[in-house]
Amino acid sequence: MGEKRIACKKCGAQVAPGEKKCPSCGVENPTITRKDVIGFLVVGIITVGLLSQCIGGSSYDDYADVKLKEIRELTGSEQKEILGDYLVQSDINEEYSYEFFRCMSDMVNSKADALSLSKVMGWCKTEFESNGKPRFN
Ligand SMILES: [Zn+2]
Repeated sequence: MGEKRIACKKCGAQVAPGEKKCPSCGVENPTITRKDVIGFLVVGIITVGLLSQCIGGSSYDDYADVKLKEIRELTGSEQKEILGDYLVQSDINEEYSYEFFRCMSDMVNSKADALSLSKVMGWCKTEFESNGKPRFN
């Protein structure tokens, strides 16, 4: 024999690793302990957290210093995501997101390549603060 055996989590009988059912008490997955399951969940949650940070992470901070030339190459939904994050950070009510998005698109498409996003968003915000809404052409 010589095969390594693990104690069943329920009855303590020696069970071959990977056995689906304990031959002694019949419990399912006798060699998988609660600790294993928790460890697995923790690893899973951390992995999902890291992945979502990488994939869904169009946060405004990441783009504040990015040049308009590069912002222009992003998809509309990526730009909207960045704008959404900008509004939250700047404490601007979500109801103005349409106006701000118009302003942002306008700036991104009409201003110089080398300007940063934070620069033009600053202009949109200044317009917004003086006129109650961002101005767009
Ligand atoms: Zn058992």
